[in-house]
Amino acid sequence: MKKENELFKYNDFNNLLNNLSTVLENISEYNEKFNAFCRVYKDETISSINTLYEEIKSNLNNSFDNKYSLSGMIIGIKDLFCYKGHITQAASKILENFIPDYNATVVDMLLSAGGTIIGHQNCDEFGMGSSNNNTIYGITHNFFDYKKTTGGSSGGSALAVQSNMCHISLGTDTGGSIRQPASYCGIIGFRPSYGVISRYGVIAHASSFDTVGILGKEISDIIDVFNVISNYDVKDSSMVDYKKINNKPSDISSNYKLCILNDLFDLSILQTEVKDGIKNVINILSNSFDIFKDNIENIELCSSVYFTLTTIEASSNLSRYTGVKYGYRANDYSNFDEMIIKTRTEGFGHEVKKRILLGNYLLETNFENKYIDKALNLREKFKKRFDELFKKYDFVILPITSTTAFSINEPLKDDNSFWDDNFSMLAALVGYPAISIPCGVDDSKMPFGFQIIGNKYKDKKLLEFADRIIKLLK
Ligand code: GLN
Repeated sequence: MKKENELFKYNDFNNLLNNLSTVLENISEYNEKFNAFCRVYKDETISSINTLYEEIKSNLNNSFDNKYSLSGMIIGIKDLFCYKGHITQAASKILENFIPDYNATVVDMLLSAGGTIIGHQNCDEFGMGSSNNNTIYGITHNFFDYKKTTGGSSGGSALAVQSNMCHISLGTDTGGSIRQPASYCGIIGFRPSYGVISRYGVIAHASSFDTVGILGKEISDIIDVFNVISNYDVKDSSMVDYKKINNKPSDISSNYKLCILNDLFDLSILQTEVKDGIKNVINILSNSFDIFKDNIENIELCSSVYFTLTTIEASSNLSRYTGVKYGYRANDYSNFDEMIIKTRTEGFGHEVKKRILLGNYLLETNFENKYIDKALNLREKFKKRFDELFKKYDFVILPITSTTAFSINEPLKDDNSFWDDNFSMLAALVGYPAISIPCGVDDSKMPFGFQIIGNKYKDKKLLEFADRIIKLLK
């Protein structure tokens, strides 16, 4: 990537117009080829940044009074966030031309903090997938190697940050969709504790797992955005009041206890560079922190529990798309039932249909004990184990992807994708905050990250710890 295409810090107001032109240049040069944004709001972005520029100029001492904490930040949003007056369609035909008449709460929060939304980003349909290939917009390509995946489902969001088409992206992470693409694209991806960021106006995948999270290159940008969007929203009944819970003096300390999930580092599926890279990080950390080894029993069952429960929830969430209220409606039908059947047959993609079918199959009453109860029990066991672990330790460290980005034409080996799912779905099952941090590159200069899980509702502590680690690793 050419040097002149890089972005200045968003609140470096002397470079506000430079950032605007860089972002627009990068988009016009690369977006069509790499496929990060499905819709770019160029005129709105130009007008918003120019208005800000005029405000700064007219300020007497030629500085900005920083009335809005995100002023100057250019933000992309995954195609799951309702943005008033802008088509929002979850990368699905079934929501063709759906124009929300309200903003997702997080969109409102970003805008009222002065942020500029530059466009909607490509993703896997309804957030289902790991390589951004289940999408009506066409696959995304990794900016460091066109033949490689960006990961998914927030692939467009990771790619847009990776290629400096925006400062920050807002994605969703149901079971890894922020952290996995962040690892493949060499950026930071943060999934908050479940219930800390409002999901009102965010198109649902699996409601007891879905979170809104942040992808960026600078941890300070991620912290700034988190501060803005972690306010309580009465419109989301699954929320906790994060700021109220954390109103006591900060529990940031210099002497943390770190837990390494030991078994995971012995897996033979880990690419050598990934294994060595994370071990190297742990070595560096051992100079500053106490490190312990521990394990989580049945960790290899995470992905089975995840797919059992998320497909059930998805089959219910997606039952609202019938052609009656939103988006696409089939053309030829002779009665109401046929209209719904044809709309759903033509409107949903293969992966989404597969999950709706699986979810409905599992919901058959006689499967309740066989699959659903087992999955729910295991989820509880993982939660209990996390309670225990976090009584002893401040953070848990594990891989996020076993390899660097795989080739688009050569899917990841089953064993790798099985373990990658387990790595990313663990935090999602228990609802704890987790972050993927760039760790190194392999022989062909493709990046990979590693993962830190923090205690529940200690999101800020995790972000501040990540900040320290990033500085230590530099
Ligand atoms: N890859 C996982 C899935 O396909 C995670 C998706 C997500 O987090 N949205 O379900």
